[in-house]
Amino acid sequence: QLPPSVPQFLKSARVSSSTIQTMKKKGLLSLQKREVARTHEYEPYDAALGAQNIILNPHQQHAVETVIDAVKKNEFRAFLLHGVTGSGKTQVYIEIIRKALNDGKTAIVLVPEISLTPQIVRRFKAHFGEKVIALHSKMSAGERFDAWRYTKEGKYSIVIGPRSALFAPLKHLGLIVVDEEHEPSFKQFDKTPRYHGRDAALIRGKHAGAVVVLGSATPSFESYSNAMTGKYTLLELPERVDNAKLPPIEIVDMLQERRKKYQEFRAQRKAEYEADPVKAKEEKKKFEGSSVSDLLKTEIEKRLAKKEGIILLQNRRGFAPYIECADCGYVAMCKNCNISLTYHFTRKHLRCHYCGAVEKPPDFCPLCKSVDLSMRGFGTQRVEQELKALFPKTKMIRMDMDTTTRKGSHDAMLRKFAEGEADILLGTQMVAKGLDFSRVTLVGVISADTQMLLPDFRATERTFQLLTQVAGRSGRGELAGEVVIQTSHPQHECLRHVLLHDFKSFYEEELKQREELHYPPFSRLMLIEFKGKHEDLTMNVADAFRAILKKYGHTFIVLGPSPAAIQKIKNYYRWQLIIKALKSEDPSGHIAHTAVERTLHEYRGTAQGKSKSVIITVDMDPVGMM
Ligand SMILES: [Zn+2]
Ligand SMILES: [Zn+2]
Repeated sequence: QLPPSVPQFLKSARVSSSTIQTMKKKGLLSLQKREVARTHEYEPYDAALGAQNIILNPHQQHAVETVIDAVKKNEFRAFLLHGVTGSGKTQVYIEIIRKALNDGKTAIVLVPEISLTPQIVRRFKAHFGEKVIALHSKMSAGERFDAWRYTKEGKYSIVIGPRSALFAPLKHLGLIVVDEEHEPSFKQFDKTPRYHGRDAALIRGKHAGAVVVLGSATPSFESYSNAMTGKYTLLELPERVDNAKLPPIEIVDMLQERRKKYQEFRAQRKAEYEADPVKAKEEKKKFEGSSVSDLLKTEIEKRLAKKEGIILLQNRRGFAPYIECADCGYVAMCKNCNISLTYHFTRKHLRCHYCGAVEKPPDFCPLCKSVDLSMRGFGTQRVEQELKALFPKTKMIRMDMDTTTRKGSHDAMLRKFAEGEADILLGTQMVAKGLDFSRVTLVGVISADTQMLLPDFRATERTFQLLTQVAGRSGRGELAGEVVIQTSHPQHECLRHVLLHDFKSFYEEELKQREELHYPPFSRLMLIEFKGKHEDLTMNVADAFRAILKKYGHTFIVLGPSPAAIQKIKNYYRWQLIIKALKSEDPSGHIAHTAVERTLHEYRGTAQGKSKSVIITVDMDPVGMM
C-alpha cells in the first residue's frame, strides 16, 4: 500500500505542515515525490448497466455495421445518422466505438453542451470504464492539463466533451461522433477563432483518415442536404427502441383560449358592464390571459395524480420584441426577407435587421382591424408563478441560466427530477435536449411562438428542432407519452410537420423558401458586424465598408447596413452587413471571402480605419443573426 499524500496525512493526523517539517528534520518521517492525477469529480457510474446485453434492432445493427466497415478501411468518410428521438443513437455510438477500440483505434464524442457531459460520460464509463475521459472548460486548468497529457500518453481512448474536445491529442483516431449535430452551440461565435465544431470535426476526420458520424433527430439543413447530394452517407433509425411509440401531439390555439377566458372574465363582471359600458371597455386592459391553457392544466393534473414526470418548456431565448395582434395573431414581417420585423424602442419603429427596411408600427391590425396590438417576445418568469398558484403543493424545478450557475447544479437538478423528488421540470431550451427519463409522460410547450418569430431566417428550422426535441422527451419508456404545444399561430407551417413527426416533409417544404431567397444551403453567408460607441460613426463606417466592398465583386448579394436585432450591447451600437455568396456562382464562398479580405485591408489603410474606433468582425457561416 502506498503511503498517504501530505494533504491526506495533515487531515487524518490533524497536524500542521510545520509539524511535518520538524518530524522530517528529526528523521521520524520521510517525504517522497509522487505524481497524483487531478481528476474531475463525476458521480459514480453503474457498471452493471454496461454489462447488460443490449440487442440492437435491425436499423441500429445496419448503422453499426456500415460505419464499422468504413472505420476498418482507415479512410475518411462522413455519415449522417438520422434517428427519431428515442431511437437509440447513443447505443449505436457505443457499439461502433466498442468495435473501433477492438481494432486498436480511438474515438472522440462531441456533445453540444458542457451541461450534458456528466450524463453521457457516466453512460460511456459504464461500458468502457476508465478508458473514458471528459475534456471541457468547467474543469480546472490542472484537471484539463492532466486529462490532456494522459490522453497524449495513450491512457485514454475515448474523449468526450463540447467542441473543444475535438482537439484532444489522441493517436490512431478512428472515429469522431458529433451528437446533436444540428445544435448551434457547436459554433464558437463570440471569440476568435470563430469555428464550427461540426465542420472542424470533418476537417480533422479528413486529416486523420477517420470516420465522422453526425447524429441527430432533426439534422441541420446543411448536413441533410449534404446527405441528399451524396456527400455524406445517410443512415436512418425511423423507430423508437423497445417498441416505444412517438407521442401524440396536441396544439392549443392560445388566441382562442384567450378569447374564451375573456368571455368568462366578462361574464363574471356582467353587472358592472351593464351599469357602465364606457368603463367596461377599459376593463379589457385589466384582463390578463393565463399562459397555461385548460387542456394543459388538465393533463398536468392527471400526471400529478399518478406521480409521473412532466417537462414544461418556456423558451426565454426570444428577446427581439415584435408586435402581435392579440385577436388574430398577425405579426409584421419583412416582405424582402421573410423574417419578423423588430420593434426598436428608441426610434419607435419596426425595422428589418437584415435589409434595413423600416415601417411605422400599425395602429390597428391590417388583417382583422383589431386595435389590440401588443408587444411580445420578452422573457418572463411569470409561468413559474402561475404554475405555483395553480399547483401549490407540487414540487417544481426551474432550470434556466439563472438557476444553473453553480457548478454541478444542473446535474443535481436532473437527478432530483429523475428520482421523483420533483414532478415538474420547467425550463428553457435546456430541458429540451438529451434528457432521457422514462417517468416523463407529459411535455408541455408554454409558447411555441418565442422561437418561431425570432428575426432569423433559421427561426422556422430552429422551432421545428426545438419542438421535436422537447416532444421527444415524452414517453420514452414503458409509459405512453403525450405532448401539448401552445401557440398563437396554430396554422404555422412548421407545426404541421412537428405534429406528424415528419422531418423530411418539413425539410422539403422549407427548402423551397430557402432557395427563393438564396439562404443556405443555397448560399454561404457572411455576417460582418460593426461595433462602436457612437451610433452615427458606426453606421458611417458600415456604409463606407459597403462602398469599398462593391469594388471587389459582383457575384454576391450584400444586404444592409442595418442595425442588429439587439441594437446595443454594453453601450456598443451594432450594425451589420450580410453577404450571400451564391453556391451556383461561388460554391466555396472563396470569391466573397477574398473580396471581404481586400475590403478590410483597404479600409484599415484609411484614416478612419486606423483610428479603430469601430470594431469590425467577420463571421463566416454564422449560426445566429441577432
Ligand atoms: Zn388581427
Ligand atoms: Zn428585410
